[in-house]
Amino acid sequence: MSHLMNTYARLPLAFTHGEGAWLWDTDGKRYLDALSGIAVNTLGHAHPRFTATLNAQIGKLIHVSNIYQVPEQERLADKLCALSGMQEVFLCNSGCEANEAAIKLARMYGHNKGVETPHIIVMEKAFHGRTLATLSATGSRKVQAGFEPLVKGFVRVPYNDLDAIRQVAQHNQEVVAVLVEPIQGEGGIRMLDIHYLEQLRQICDQQGWLLMLDEVQCGLGRTGKWFAHQHTGILPDVMTLAKGLGSGVPIGACLTAGKATGTFKPGNHGSTFGGNPLASTAALTTLEIMEQDRLLTNAATVGEFLLNGLRERLGKIMGVASVRGQGLMIGIELTKPCGELVGKALEQGLLINVTADNVIRLLPPLVFTQTEAQQLLDMLCPLVTEFLARE
Ligand SMILES: *Cc1c(COP(=O)(O)O)cnc(C)c1O
Repeated sequence: MSHLMNTYARLPLAFTHGEGAWLWDTDGKRYLDALSGIAVNTLGHAHPRFTATLNAQIGKLIHVSNIYQVPEQERLADKLCALSGMQEVFLCNSGCEANEAAIKLARMYGHNKGVETPHIIVMEKAFHGRTLATLSATGSRKVQAGFEPLVKGFVRVPYNDLDAIRQVAQHNQEVVAVLVEPIQGEGGIRMLDIHYLEQLRQICDQQGWLLMLDEVQCGLGRTGKWFAHQHTGILPDVMTLAKGLGSGVPIGACLTAGKATGTFKPGNHGSTFGGNPLASTAALTTLEIMEQDRLLTNAATVGEFLLNGLRERLGKIMGVASVRGQGLMIGIELTKPCGELVGKALEQGLLINVTADNVIRLLPPLVFTQTEAQQLLDMLCPLVTEFLARE
């Protein structure tokens, strides 16, 4: 009997070490990692320069308090703002914490404007985390059930539906912000229409709302740009990051620009660990290596190769509803639940994930090579074809 709290239905294997996009289990079997710990291991496993830099940092300093200056944090914030065009950064330890910061910031922004009960527009099938506020913002009954009463102050609309947002604007004077994932991850790799964000930006400007983008999963190079919204011309007021930021070392960030900047004052928000020297060095080094190794370009080209290969081999098969994605964030939607494919892939030595019941999700590390993408295609496509041919 395990003494771990029973929060995960875990697969029956454990890993001992990894290298690049490959992992080895306790029996010495090798796996191609097309999941990266759910979009976390940006640089793959055991990247030599990343490992060396972190080792050196651990030998110097792991943690001091945020009651002191933390130069590593300042360098990270400078870098994140240079890459994004944002202005201020709050550092925390995870995606839900980054979104908690965004939600608190939106409420304070509202109160500062004289809105007594600030509301935030959120989306159906959204995922923002599992703290009370972020699970309340999440659009999944499975995540919320059993934890009522939920946190109030969220108005839910369908994803990708600007008219629904315009309707809320007409009837609800208490709205202060919109929180949206540019690509929904847990929701099934669902993408926004090409002009959605630009038009949403306009609505937010007209209404004085904050446009808050949850880029916890789709940000940090995964789609071939530093941030997914950079495929459009807009700048958000708030953006949250986490997963891939520290390449496996826990760190999250909430960034502000424009009218959201300057909302928090000393004492309004904080985090004991947030942005400690080790985590900040991990994030800064991740960003530097992404630049040196041209991982954005790699994500774009290998992602396109993968998407084309999947479309060619699966696109016309009965039972495949859609193959979609951007860069190395790819979903294959089937017409029936396909959770069992995770175990079948495991037998073949391939790590994938299924989300929203019927969407195969691929989130390989950004160091994924075209050869590895070909290996992925050769392992995955026959599995899917066979699975759909049964019955
Ligand atoms: C994973 C995820 C979160 C939550 O991140 P945690 O680090 O697990 O708290 C929030 N938003 C999105 C879009 C995510 O994919």
